[in-house]
Amino acid sequence: MKKLLKIATVGIGCTALLLSIFSFDKKEYTVVIDAGHGGQDYGAQTADISEKALTTLITQKIQEKMKDESVTVHFTRLDDQMKSLSDRVNYVNQLQPDLLISLHVNHNKNENAHGFEVYYSDDSKTAATSLSQAEQLATTLAARTSLNNRGVKKGPFYILKNANCPAVLLEMGFVSNANDKAYLTSQAGQNAIAQSIIEHLQNQK
Ligand SMILES: [Zn+2]
Repeated sequence: MKKLLKIATVGIGCTALLLSIFSFDKKEYTVVIDAGHGGQDYGAQTADISEKALTTLITQKIQEKMKDESVTVHFTRLDDQMKSLSDRVNYVNQLQPDLLISLHVNHNKNENAHGFEVYYSDDSKTAATSLSQAEQLATTLAARTSLNNRGVKKGPFYILKNANCPAVLLEMGFVSNANDKAYLTSQAGQNAIAQSIIEHLQNQK
């Protein structure tokens, strides 16, 4: 009887171990991808391209390419919709994700300005985690894309300040710069940026 009890106890122990390994593997990481602008809000514009179109296209690529079931990705928008900043923040704060990444494209009168920038807010409870996320995302983008790394910066953006989760805002390049514009509008460039963001998320699990 004692022997049987021992076997039963070992059996329960093994099951518990297997369950814990199983649940570790299935641990979900949740992120919200926010495509900046949309609808009547075009964002930065040149004669033939708008920021809202680029953020939509790259967001759609993230959705297509994300096959990892242990990362759950939510989107504030996937098509060309107008969404207010407070709607976006409310959506994020209801979901309480592990991370928010807001996607944007830059514009500057100086056509030589080029490259990506990653912003975080130091006026937020999650400032330290957001800074670390911004640094890691910048490293991955610098390694996987041909975009110039302009670095991590503090930004007074509403969405970063008001999201309750770690949050970063990625300016993916300058539409006012010929090389960046060519990259941002190319399939290769959009795929590389989307893949870099996915790789960043997979690194967080
Ligand atoms: Zn923008």
